[in-house]
Formats: sequence, C-alpha cells, structure tokens
Amino acid sequence: MMAGGIFTRLWSLNSKNQLSSILIIEDEAKVARFIQRGLTAEGFQADIASTGDDGLRMARMHNYDVLTIDLLLPGIDGVSLIHKLRDEGLVSSMLILSARDSLKDKLLGFEAGADDYLPKPFQFEELVARIRALLRRRETLRKDLKLIYRDLVMEATSHSVTRAGKRIELTQREYALLELLMRNPEAVVTRARIGEEVWNEQFERETNVVEVYVMYLRRKMDTGFPETLIQTVRGVGYMLRATAPPIDSL
Ligand code: CA
Repeated sequence: MMAGGIFTRLWSLNSKNQLSSILIIEDEAKVARFIQRGLTAEGFQADIASTGDDGLRMARMHNYDVLTIDLLLPGIDGVSLIHKLRDEGLVSSMLILSARDSLKDKLLGFEAGADDYLPKPFQFEELVARIRALLRRRETLRKDLKLIYRDLVMEATSHSVTRAGKRIELTQREYALLELLMRNPEAVVTRARIGEEVWNEQFERETNVVEVYVMYLRRKMDTGFPETLIQTVRGVGYMLRATAPPIDSL
C-alpha cells in the first residue's frame, strides 16, 4: 500500500494513474493473481483480499481508489460488503467482477452502491478500460468532494477537516453536522433539518442534542481563532458565517 495519504493519492490521480490503488476482492487465487499481475503491469498498485471479511477490513484500512469485487465469496458476500462499505461512507469506486451476470444480480449490485459491473469471463483490456473510466470519473467528482469556507476545509475522500491548516478531529456526528452547515454556507439551517439529516429517525425533538453538538463543534473549531464560524440564529437554527466575536468575550 502506498504511503503518503490523501495528497499523494490526489496527485496520483492527476498523473497517468501509475500510483492509483486497486483492491482485488476475489477468492480464486489464480484469478486474483492474474488480475494483480496485469494491473501491476499497467502501473497500478494492486492488493488482493481473498475473503469478503478481508476485503471489508482492507477497504476500511486503506483508502483505495477502486475495489473490484467478486460476488460469491467466503465470509461476507460481495453485495453485502458493498452495502456495508457504502453505509460507512466509503467513497472508493466499486466494480463488480462476477460470473453471476443475471439482471437481478446486476441490479442488486448497483442498488447496493456499485459503480460498474463486468461479467466473467472478461477481457483484461476491458477491465483496465473500465478502471480508468472510474478513475476519470473520480477526478471529476473530487472537485465536489472538497468543501471550503474561508480557512475551513473539509475533504470528503479522507474525511478530514482543517482550519487554517490545523487538523481538527471530529466524531462521525460532528462531521455530519459540520458538512450540512458547509453545504449551506451563510444560510440558516433549521434545528429540524439538522435533526432529520444528521440524526435521522433517532432524533428526539425535545432534547437539546443539537445544541450540545454545536457546542462541541465550536469548542474544536472556533477556539483560538479571531473569527467564530458557527452562529446561532435564535429560535431557528444555525448558520455557517464568519463573525468577529463581541469585544467583551475576547
Ligand atoms: Ca468467488
């Protein structure tokens, strides 16, 4: 696996794909090695996971650009694996590579969150062409994956947030709340909408859980900076807007 994190990876996507990373989730060792050898020869970094559970673990651990996924696997099956990873917010491109090529299988795969489907047996050139197409699409999407408001930057691919270059560690919920505010900069986001989009069905209207999380976020993001970014709109909700704090609070 390549070291270097997100910046190496984004840079690698702009080059000729030499460093783009692929995880091959395939239980037939021969097939897996064939794909790995071919992809390596094409200039990709390719790892193999030989069970569904290994695939799950490795996909979570490394930020692969593309996963190729067999459907029938020991342990967790391909469709469930895709479901799980998408639920967790993984943004790697996912290509199903399977001998099961009925319409029903394809639809289940796409519904779970796959980006492409190539039936076995396949021509290796076609696999490479599809992977390159997925990488091109990722590069276009990448521009939307970065949210910027003044000195605050959120990178969806690495799930990281920085303010003035300083990394801010957020929990999943804090991240989701901040993302909602950053997607609606300088607009009021109501408490009800925050409840719906960040807490879903677990949201209890009467609790002050939103206030508490806004307080956590402010503590992590605004402490030590001359401008505060999250403003309270009394009785309505919150807004992302840079504001100098009142003199008496300095
Ligand atoms: Ca299999």
